Amino acid sequence: METGKLIVITGPSGVGKGTLVRELLARHPQLYLSISATTRSPRPGEIHGKDYYFVSRQEFEQMVQRGELLEWAEYGSNYYGTPRAKVEEILDMGKSVLLEIELVGARAIKETFPEALRLFILPPSTAELERRLRGRGKDSTEAIERRLDRGKVEMAAAGEFDCQIVNDDLDEAIASLEAIIEESYS
Ligand code: 5GP
Repeated sequence: METGKLIVITGPSGVGKGTLVRELLARHPQLYLSISATTRSPRPGEIHGKDYYFVSRQEFEQMVQRGELLEWAEYGSNYYGTPRAKVEEILDMGKSVLLEIELVGARAIKETFPEALRLFILPPSTAELERRLRGRGKDSTEAIERRLDRGKVEMAAAGEFDCQIVNDDLDEAIASLEAIIEESYS
């Protein structure tokens, strides 16, 4: 993983992207995870500047107008976007950058960075996704319903991505992810 590559990880809410990304970073500390800006409120334990940059709608709109975001999307009545400067800086240094983003943003990246590696994480089944989303207790019932609906739309687009990885057994999913990333460098 020596040369700078943009790696996009997408998948329905609750599929375990966060855990996979954390594991990947722990094994490959040279990878840089982009920290997104969002208008969503922090969940308990989330830290500004670590998990997200938590900004107001007005601040977010200004970032969009100034062209400071590489991509952005609305998700569940909030905005999410990738700050451009840091990603470009890291790529220019020859390092690889991970983006953990939803479908609309991943499509935008395909246009601006056609050489990006775009990976889609699938659950073993929709029923299992629903079980994980409800079980993690992070969102209101209404937000869970919205996330499930959106997840189904996202999963229907999984074929647009370079690779699809089923997150059933965590170790196996990480091994697949690592193998696909390693292969993309050769
Ligand atoms: P959550 O609210 O669960 O943290 O994130 C909701 C969704 O927004 C997830 O699918 C996550 O991958 C996506 N997301 C997080 N940051 C960004 C971003 O910068 N851009 C886009 N397009 N999606 C993002």
